Amino acid sequence: METIIKAATEIRRAILELVPVYAEITKVEFEGPRIAIYSRKPEVFLEKEGELIKNIAKRVRKRIVVRGDPQSRLPEKEATMFIKEIIPKDAGLSEVYFNIVTGEVEIEVSKPENIDSSVRYEILAKTLWYPRFIRKPPLSSRTLREIRELYRISANDRLRFLRDLGQKIYRVQLFQDDYVRITALGSFQEVGRSAILIQTPESKVLLDSGIKPSSNGDEFPFFELPEFSIDDLDAVVITHAHLDHCGILPYLFKYGYKGPVYMTEPTLYLSKLLFEDYIRIAEREGRVPPYTMRDVASAILNTYTLGYGEVTDISPDTRLTLYRSGHILGSALVHLHIGEGLLNIVYTSDLKYARTMLLDPAHTKFPRAEVLVIESTYGGSQDKLPDETEAQLNLAEIVLHTIRRSGVVLIPVLAIGRAQEILLVLISAIKRKLIPEIPIFIEGMIDEVSAVHTAFPEYLSQKTRELIYSGENPFTAPNVHIVKGESREEIINTRPSVILATSGMLTGGPVLEYLRLLADDDRSSLVFVSYQIEGTLGRRILQGLRTLTFTNSKGKMEVKELKMEVRQIEGFSGHSDRRQLTRYLRHISPTPRLVILNHGEKTKIGEFRGYLVNYASKKFGLNFNVIAPQNLETLRLL
Ligand SMILES: [Zn+2]
Repeated sequence: METIIKAATEIRRAILELVPVYAEITKVEFEGPRIAIYSRKPEVFLEKEGELIKNIAKRVRKRIVVRGDPQSRLPEKEATMFIKEIIPKDAGLSEVYFNIVTGEVEIEVSKPENIDSSVRYEILAKTLWYPRFIRKPPLSSRTLREIRELYRISANDRLRFLRDLGQKIYRVQLFQDDYVRITALGSFQEVGRSAILIQTPESKVLLDSGIKPSSNGDEFPFFELPEFSIDDLDAVVITHAHLDHCGILPYLFKYGYKGPVYMTEPTLYLSKLLFEDYIRIAEREGRVPPYTMRDVASAILNTYTLGYGEVTDISPDTRLTLYRSGHILGSALVHLHIGEGLLNIVYTSDLKYARTMLLDPAHTKFPRAEVLVIESTYGGSQDKLPDETEAQLNLAEIVLHTIRRSGVVLIPVLAIGRAQEILLVLISAIKRKLIPEIPIFIEGMIDEVSAVHTAFPEYLSQKTRELIYSGENPFTAPNVHIVKGESREEIINTRPSVILATSGMLTGGPVLEYLRLLADDDRSSLVFVSYQIEGTLGRRILQGLRTLTFTNSKGKMEVKELKMEVRQIEGFSGHSDRRQLTRYLRHISPTPRLVILNHGEKTKIGEFRGYLVNYASKKFGLNFNVIAPQNLETLRLL
């Protein structure tokens, strides 16, 4: 305890030395990894483009936030009046909420980009409430509402959590860093249950905590290893909202984890949707889910969101930065800086190193990067995907000749990522007049996921972001219809049209109902746009299955001949193929000295490693060691 106070006191002293007396500081406190400075004249900190905050941040090397002194804040009613007056009309103000615990006023507007920095200054100076502008998505999102609500009703718990977290992060380092170890808890020489433990004498950090879907019950990472103890963890970092990377997170809370979870803001919202869905499916199938919504709420309340490029202390010897990984909305690659310049680790998680409609490619420039852990899903010798532009043209061509036959194009999609990408591709094809403007119906979890996308345009590709800012939001195009209770018979008789529905591999969901209705219609097309796992109905159809058995709405068995045109389009993957992975290894700067392969089937990992060691490293002059550990192995990196 004494050492904690010492560290905190030093930070306070440094701040008081830099801040002029007229700023009237009343207290300095931890707010998670950030330092909150309370003041009676908080606007002083925003002057000259926040020069003072920058100077303090540079000196204490921590993130700084400014809060108005609680006793001096303007009463809520008067503050609301002032805010309503000063927010420009074209920003579209919809809600003002005062968070009495943090001293922030949350201002919901439809266009935060129309508010300039002087407005922030004026609001803080006049009301002493720190303004936080929140984007109101054009599609209303239940998830956004629920999480915001949860934070509001738990504001006091949340603040206590952040104070304690700050104390822990800024404890004085007790042990000298003389080793760094990495332990493979899951996703090594396999795909699924991603989990990596990074250990130093001072801290323990868990990267991802996913599940591996399997027909005999989902498999979890090897948490029973002696190296792994929930109580000793300093932090959990989640790279993105796919169950094989985040699916088991609430389970850690069920078993007593009380520490922080770091991820981007979109990942928080999307993973809540996934957890809910996971629990619901388990219950429907008569299984006991591994965790409950209460554990999900605990995980959400202990989550601390970070934007791309924000350097953050997560323990006395470890600094975390998340960067764009190009895979799905909010997905991140992880950079860990350990010790003062001792070791830097980059973990790519799922990586797309190419431009897609939805997202810009993965980040490549790091201050330092000695060790790289990179995925290898499509690292095999046969893994060459067509370019996405080619895939786009293929899709347009299929849609066009289905239209000529007056048919319906049915596309099974995964709710997160692929559905939005295909929607953007179709809208762009219409805009370029490759196909006529026809109705697009979407159904499944897709609408809620799309709503989350519209709340975070800053995470989307530059092209799509600019479209949204200029008022042409492809997610709300007039021909896009979210199916809510309309009869599916009616929808399939709206011709021509495109239907996007979950699940992506025909393993359940509304897509099966559409398939039942359309199966024997030879004018319509069934188009697969993602990988079909062995054993799924999607895969069996691709292998030639043409007699399908359905259970209709009355619970009766129905056998139908599949007469639709069946097509598969490759090239829409959110992963990198072998060429893209290799290009990433050539472009990452600086070149790492050690490359660790994970997230790939055993044979593909073997092929990829052989290719890198025997061919690519010589051809491209890359001097790194390439290894492919197995699950349960621990490696000393330093
Ligand atoms: Zn993924």
